[in-house]
Amino acid sequence: MNQKTGLKRTKCTICSGLSLNANENGENFCEKYFLNFLIDLREKFHDPSQTEEYFQNSAFDDDDHINQISCTGLTLMHVNVLGGREDSNGDQSEQGNLAFMPLYEENIAMEICQLLLKRGASPHGNSIYEMRPLHIAIRRQWTRMTRLLLEAGANPSLPEKDMYASRPMDIAVVNDDPETVELLHTFGASLNGVKSMFYLTPLAEAFMRGYYDVFKVLLERGAKPVLDLHWNTFRSFGKQLFDVGTKGRQRFVQLMYDHGADIETEFRLRTIRIEPNGITDFEPRYAFCCDPIYIGDLDSAIFIKWMCKCRSLKELCRLTIRRYLFKTFKNGFKCLLDLKQQCSLNDRLYRYIMFRNSI
Ligand SMILES: [Zn+2]
Repeated sequence: MNQKTGLKRTKCTICSGLSLNANENGENFCEKYFLNFLIDLREKFHDPSQTEEYFQNSAFDDDDHINQISCTGLTLMHVNVLGGREDSNGDQSEQGNLAFMPLYEENIAMEICQLLLKRGASPHGNSIYEMRPLHIAIRRQWTRMTRLLLEAGANPSLPEKDMYASRPMDIAVVNDDPETVELLHTFGASLNGVKSMFYLTPLAEAFMRGYYDVFKVLLERGAKPVLDLHWNTFRSFGKQLFDVGTKGRQRFVQLMYDHGADIETEFRLRTIRIEPNGITDFEPRYAFCCDPIYIGDLDSAIFIKWMCKCRSLKELCRLTIRRYLFKTFKNGFKCLLDLKQQCSLNDRLYRYIMFRNSI
């Protein structure tokens, strides 16, 4: 993972910060030189002859040197998207160096990017802070720049995460940016991501944050309809997730169901029959229902708001009894019938459990 291996660690002679310069001649180009080069280039790049001369008289004179790295390990391509540190002369500690300001607007960065590409620059940047130009462009929501980098061959499926523990697809999801999600997928990025204890998949992230458009795009593009959320994640988001208001996730659950998700496994939900017209009509429809014990333990308000919204508590009790009996007696209906015939089960209770009649 550590791409810095092999780089010489010396002091930059200009900014006196730790230098990662790997220049074979031992030359040391400070990041400030890169910044100033780009700022001045901005004045010249509309004039091809001036631009040519400017490059010839710089450290980036040919395609061997265009990917030259600065004392901090950044390429010109990288600095063009990243910009400079907010406070470049004060705090030199690593923490103090993390806030970057773009040098100019997206359209100028794009024109310079195109110029650099023409001169042989790589669109990849390097993995310094694991923040490649693509990560930065997506983070800035520079969609056109993102597309340009992807078209130039930037890899959207980098396994490495940036300093905020995000890969390109994760950033697009967190930005609530369905357009970039689609763009990244078109260029080959995985929709499913890598799962670990501390990491949510793009779909799970969109679900937790309530980003419906991103959630929908991910499913439509073929993301696995699996959230696999941990109990603790549910606990910290629980109330909001199962609220019936606009913040709730019922339509997310429905969409997952439409895309073939195993809802019961995901949420410990049950599909249950409910009888809008009363038990005697025998025209049940099926609706989602949380496992009362599971969600009920979480927050009784969730239980009441979502589960009891369209059915009475009496019906829920019946379902609970029914489930209990079927779990306890493995033969299901036959066993219930036997119990009834042995008079161990009250006839009225039997009919009630079997949805045969009103109680
Ligand atoms: Zn320096």
